[in-house]
Amino acid sequence: MAKILAVLYPDPVDGYPPDYARDEIPAITGYPGGQATPTPRGLDFTPGQLLGSVSGELGLRRFLEDRGDTYVVTSDKEPPDSTLDRELPDSDVVISQPFWPAYLTAERIASAPRLKLAITAGIGSDHVDLPSAIAHGMTVAEVTFSNSISVSEHAVMQILILVHNFVPAHDWVTGKKGWNIADSVSRNYDLEGMDVGVLGSGRIGQAVLRRLKPFEVNLHYSDVHRLPREVEEELGLTWHPDARSLAASVDVLSIHAPLHPQTQNLFDEDMIGVMRRGSYIVNTARALIVDRDAVVAALNSGQLAGYAGDVWYPQPPPPDHPWRTMPSEAMTPHVSGSTLSAQARYAAGTREILECWFDGRPIRPEYLIVDGGGLAGTGARSYTVAG
Ligand code: NAD
Repeated sequence: MAKILAVLYPDPVDGYPPDYARDEIPAITGYPGGQATPTPRGLDFTPGQLLGSVSGELGLRRFLEDRGDTYVVTSDKEPPDSTLDRELPDSDVVISQPFWPAYLTAERIASAPRLKLAITAGIGSDHVDLPSAIAHGMTVAEVTFSNSISVSEHAVMQILILVHNFVPAHDWVTGKKGWNIADSVSRNYDLEGMDVGVLGSGRIGQAVLRRLKPFEVNLHYSDVHRLPREVEEELGLTWHPDARSLAASVDVLSIHAPLHPQTQNLFDEDMIGVMRRGSYIVNTARALIVDRDAVVAALNSGQLAGYAGDVWYPQPPPPDHPWRTMPSEAMTPHVSGSTLSAQARYAAGTREILECWFDGRPIRPEYLIVDGGGLAGTGARSYTVAG
């Protein structure tokens, strides 16, 4: 029997919710392009409930314990003496989430001789040291598409929040108890007519482009895989061969490429410097794609008019992380991909991956990042490994 170790974010500070704001979530059966939503053989949770926190347990406990497996769930993950570090050495499977990542470093992987499967309950497996996972003979899988639309909605929201100066205006009427119209509008613009670009036009990037089309903006993108001409024509897209050309051509940039050697630290002082003065960056991809301090400096100098996103490094960030106090920001914690709607899909997808693994059936190629000794499936298309 197997030992499965899940590292999930802590419950709400007031405890696991006894009830919810809404009675149900819409039933989604397929994604744009035809990929099916998760198809596990069974489900032991009610869609719409909090599944991603420790007490939610991704709805997996009954399934795993009925099989005779051991299921350990914890949020305690900071090395060297965490529950994660203590439980890892005899674990067969680790489940983690980008929102509260169990950083599976080379050292941690080396400490776990039985570890053969790392599942990301969500999307984005950069918290796993992929070269070490490959060398260790592991499979790394994620629930591709489970929260892509959720993130695209959040990214569009953060673009509008920045350009329309929402956060300071909200703060004037609530925190400061004022009615300061001039203060609120002196940085308030329309998105209409602006040049808006996405870096990475995969599942999320393309959904962002589609959602922005009705805003009457000029849409730009860059991706190592150019979109089909029909899509470019349908959405009126301008393609750029690299991030630099894209950055120099837009007023708003939304980042949707994975974190891998090609994208790490891509938006440094030099790259931000080629952008138009007063540009906005929204980053719901991964924090290490941008240079933390270059962002702060650009906001202070006015080179950037705003920065928003939900991804930080490390996660959770320390109390003195400069993005908590920088000007012209609209940051959230890493929540865009963990809506209650998305949780139902990524919990079901995690169960589907486990069922396949235990039965010896193939995991869907689109869920694979590493398999068979190298990058595989979505991993082979969207990631690179150094060396
Ligand atoms: P995807 O695999 O469908 O798309 C990624 C796209 O990025 C691909 O088209 C790929 O070709 C492109 N890309 C890769 N390297 C590139 C480079 N150097 N330059 C330009 N383009 C490049 O993935 P997705 O579902 O759209 O997710 C994208 C990323 O968003 C994830 O890898 C993850 O890091 C992040 N994400 C964040 C959240 C969140 O909650 N904030 C949730 C889901 C995903």
